[in-house]
This record gives sequence, C-alpha cells and structure tokens, in this order.
Amino acid sequence: MSDERISTLLQSIWEQLPESVKLVAVSKFRPEDQLLQAYDCGQRIFAESRPAEFKSKAESLPKDIIWHFIGHLQTNKIALVLPYVSLIHSVDSLHLMEAINKYCLQHARTADILLEVHVAMETTKQGFSPDELPSVLGHAASMPGIRVCGLMGMASHTDDTSRIRADFRQLKSLFDSMKNVAPACFTELSMGMSDDWKIAVEEGSTMVRIGSAIFT
Ligand SMILES: *Cc1c(COP(=O)(O)O)cnc(C)c1O
Repeated sequence: MSDERISTLLQSIWEQLPESVKLVAVSKFRPEDQLLQAYDCGQRIFAESRPAEFKSKAESLPKDIIWHFIGHLQTNKIALVLPYVSLIHSVDSLHLMEAINKYCLQHARTADILLEVHVAMETTKQGFSPDELPSVLGHAASMPGIRVCGLMGMASHTDDTSRIRADFRQLKSLFDSMKNVAPACFTELSMGMSDDWKIAVEEGSTMVRIGSAIFT
C-alpha cells in the first residue's frame, strides 16, 4: 500500500472526528512499515491486541508512540505489555485487574485501564456485564496499582444501525451512571470501530479504535 493511501484515509478520519475524540489506530497484524507511514502523517496513538506482537513493535518503533492494548490479556502475559502500555482498554475480569494491580505494586507504578463491558447481543463477547460494574469499581478502589479511566465496549455485529446505536447509547448511559461512583480520572468511553465509529461519536464516544479503515 502506498504512503498516500494511508495518509488520505487518516486525513479523512481526522477531518470528520471532533477534536475532543481521540483516534486510536488499530495496527494489529499490520507490518511495521504501515505503522510508520501513519506515524509519519502524525498519528501517535496505536493499539495492538496480541502481547508478543505488541512488545516487539513497541521495542522497535519510535519511542514517542503512545501504545494502547485492546486484546484479551492473559495474566501470564502482563509482563510483556505493562512496560510499554499507556492504556489497557480490555480489562475483562477481576482476576486480570488483580494481577495488573499486583504487577504494578511490585514495580512501584500504576496502570491506566478501561473496563470492557459487554452489551452486544453476541454471547461470546468478552467483558463485564453492566450489573457487575458497580462492584468492580468498588474492588478497583482498593487497588492502588490501577486507575480505572473509563469503559470500553463494542456494538453488536450487525447491519442494523438502530441496534448498533442502541448498544452505544447503553454504553454511554452506563458510563454516565458509573461516573458518579468512579474516581475523577474516569473520563474515557472507548467505542466505535471502522464500520460504526460515526454512530459511536454521535452517541458520546471519547476514543474510537479504527484499524481496517486506515490500513486497507
Ligand atoms: C480489531 C479491533 C478493532 C479495530 O477493528 P476495525 O474493524 O479493523 O476498525 C477495534 N477494537 C478492538 C477491540 C479490536 O479487536
């Protein structure tokens, strides 16, 4: 793919994205030269979903890239990700949250995380159920190694835009109600991907995660 194509796609997204919404470029499975093309256009936030690939890219690519992690993270892979990551979007269990907290206490640091919430109709999706969130936030309050910075979610995989909008609306409403019981750093609502980010932005997303609409 030519430099120009990635640059054109990025420009077009930047033009349409409100200034308050961050663009997370999802670079999983993409070769490093494609990331560098996006980097040369000015993109700085990149997200990966596999721990080993994440570590390898973080070590070889420019040091001012802001790395996010968006994939399922097994507790035995935390040490691959934590040294480089600035935000983990995909914390989907108390077990993982506890393990990240433990790692951070051992390394005298904190980690910024989002809680992945399951609202879509698919039963296989990872994440906490909406009912669990208050108690998860309660547990998080007793973990000095982590800062819960917001929520991440995905809409149902469907062509029915009213269904997609309803899922994002539910995420936004959960985000707003959790804000009342969450710490002050609870400011991010990560929702919207290549096919549905415009709807997500209309429904209150603060961070869109876009892969194929940039890198194809
Ligand atoms: C792959 C992935 C994305 C990006 O998906 P695209 O459809 O390529 O934009 C966003 N979020 C998560 C959690 C992903 O795994």
